[in-house]
Amino acid sequence: MFHSAALRLTFWYLAIIMVLSIVFSGALYRLSVNELDRNVNRQIGYFNNFLGPRDTTNYLQLRHEQLDEGRTHLKADLVVFNLMVLVGGGAASYWLARRTLEPIEQALESQSRFAADASHELRTPLTAIQTENEVALRDPKLNKTQATDLLKSNLEEVAKLKALSEGLLKLANTSGRIDNPQTVAVKDIIEPAVERLAKAAELKHIKIVNKPNQLTVRGDPDSLVELVSILIDNAIKYSPNKSQVTIVTSRQHKDVLIEVADRGTGIERSELAKIFDRFYRSDSSRAKSDGGGYGLGLAIAKKIAEAHGGHIEVLSTLGSGSTFILHLPGA
Ligand code: ADP
Repeated sequence: MFHSAALRLTFWYLAIIMVLSIVFSGALYRLSVNELDRNVNRQIGYFNNFLGPRDTTNYLQLRHEQLDEGRTHLKADLVVFNLMVLVGGGAASYWLARRTLEPIEQALESQSRFAADASHELRTPLTAIQTENEVALRDPKLNKTQATDLLKSNLEEVAKLKALSEGLLKLANTSGRIDNPQTVAVKDIIEPAVERLAKAAELKHIKIVNKPNQLTVRGDPDSLVELVSILIDNAIKYSPNKSQVTIVTSRQHKDVLIEVADRGTGIERSELAKIFDRFYRSDSSRAKSDGGGYGLGLAIAKKIAEAHGGHIEVLSTLGSGSTFILHLPGA
């Protein structure tokens, strides 16, 4: 599909180049011929004054022959020039067409990879629900306790599907730009996020230490709370029971930094570049039966940070913990 589009684009680029080249050559030819004619006429006047009519006629004939020859040469040179433009312009047009289509090709590829990954993730819980129900239906001796267990298991899978569809929706709804940024106090971002995750922290007896200050940033408050919640949620998820998550805010030049540090599993060096990819989960977190997500959290966080003109930096040591540093432009 992209090959034929590239060829079509090449054709149009080349057509534009050739039209310009031919018009330019035509104009150049006309100007040159006019200039040659003007010179000959000037010479005729000059020779009429100094030579006899016979010599003048001979000389004129010679000049006209030279003029015709000059025109033929000029035409041939211009044809060769246009052929060179055709070959060179063709190659340049193809290169330009490929470069024009490259980002569109990449965007389409990433879209279809996303659709494939999403359907794969959706299929796993759906298959589990289908298999369990089919097995139960084929069992004539299914009793009430077994039916209750089945329903519980089905509900767990439905909860996973719900979480996944919510993640997908958030990712789709996070636009690359913030339309109406406001001045937001950093404490009004961190406190609601901590509150949102208080229950999860309590379940693991994790202490969240928040060191507030008076800094402000510009952005959309709800998206920023969502972003910081993702970082705190991960810090809790990937930390052992009874550990500590610390949130520190500071100013660095024009940026405001929000650091979320945990004393958890840490991240392998080789994985640091991949954790912000959609659906990426490290092997160790895949293997975890409990709190595993779908690998969408950090992709959403990154999108929100970038929409605010910021970015997320990660420092991590395997086995001792990670620090996610959110850089946001200060208000
Ligand atoms: P998930 O829903 O799996 O947590 P994320 O996109 O939020 O998805 O994170 C992607 C991966 O990055 C996780 O699976 C985990 O391997 C790693 N990760 C993220 N945050 C932390 C953290 N604080 N400590 C250790 N690993 C982390």
